[in-house]
Amino acid sequence: MAKLDQGPPNYKEMLPPIIKENYGKWKYHEIPRSGVLKHVSESGAALYSVRVGTPRLVSIDFIRDVCELADKHTDGFLRWTTRNNIEFLVSEEAKVQPLIDELDAKGYAVGGTGAAISNIIHTQGWVHCHTPATDASGVVKAVMDDLYEYFNSMKLPAKLKMGLACCLNMCGSTHCSDIGIVGVHRTPPRIDHEKIRKGTEIPSLVASCPTGAIRPDPKNKSVIVNNDKCMYCGNCYTMSPAMEIYDAKNDGIAILIGGKVSNARSAPSFSRMVIPFLPNNAPRWPETTEAIRKIIELWIANAQKGERIGEWVERIGWEKFFTMAELPFSDMLIDDYIFSRETFRTSAAFKY
Ligand code: SF4
Ligand code: SF4
Repeated sequence: MAKLDQGPPNYKEMLPPIIKENYGKWKYHEIPRSGVLKHVSESGAALYSVRVGTPRLVSIDFIRDVCELADKHTDGFLRWTTRNNIEFLVSEEAKVQPLIDELDAKGYAVGGTGAAISNIIHTQGWVHCHTPATDASGVVKAVMDDLYEYFNSMKLPAKLKMGLACCLNMCGSTHCSDIGIVGVHRTPPRIDHEKIRKGTEIPSLVASCPTGAIRPDPKNKSVIVNNDKCMYCGNCYTMSPAMEIYDAKNDGIAILIGGKVSNARSAPSFSRMVIPFLPNNAPRWPETTEAIRKIIELWIANAQKGERIGEWVERIGWEKFFTMAELPFSDMLIDDYIFSRETFRTSAAFKY
């Protein structure tokens, strides 16, 4: 009988000898060039990690190819990072350049270290999920193609982390990224009463709505949606297939900025919406790539060294950011959900 409840394999069995020998004894690290980290231990041993971008959604052929590279250059050792980059773990400096040369020749992207744009954390999109308002892989490819120069260099004021979620469930990190790309709907759900009668747990459906826009309709054994209260979150569709909400013409992308997770210098913060809607212009999403580049270039030109996007905007003030970015400020950007009060200005300090 198959062994059950055995958990994941023990990661310690897969560590390269240099990490096993120096585990917990690392003294310092440096970044000798974009895409290469050097960790030095108390014993003087040095480990080089060569970082390579991936599209995250990969074939078995891709995995086999990186395994072959690891067999040839790193005694078979590699790892995936929390942003879905690959790191080849090299224990001798002399082996670093031949590995990079072969990676370059094969078209792999070496980079993503230090003050750079690393990989975009992203989701399923139209490839696999049933609730997206936009695609994930397509948008990420378009944005990273446009910003590639910042992946394989370290010329930004600070690190820049981007996340994409194809709906407001925000699987991943869009709520806490320097730049968040989020799929949004703009029309209410279409109720299929027959489907509700056949298989929806109505109390759970009613309870799934954050604005109380759904109420039971016992006479018809279904529900009624108050469209004036609906803000198109799509949570009811997650709860019931009878509440389809996708709408090819009206779905699109919102851009959020200024989030971060680390405690360095300032506290972790949520990202905030600065562009409520950009169209789903597949396959290259030019409006989205252009808007993101513009924000990033403004940050590069104006931030102090080490300042993340949110820290820069907090320093100059959000009014000034909107003026500098030439972004229209509409009522859609003013929080009107339950605890919105604390986001309003309760001070006379502002700039004209
Ligand atoms: S963010 Fe939404 S649409 Fe995208 S994978 Fe998660 S649940 Fe699915
Ligand atoms: S889309 Fe969201 S706000 Fe609208 S009815 Fe469904 S759960 Fe409520």
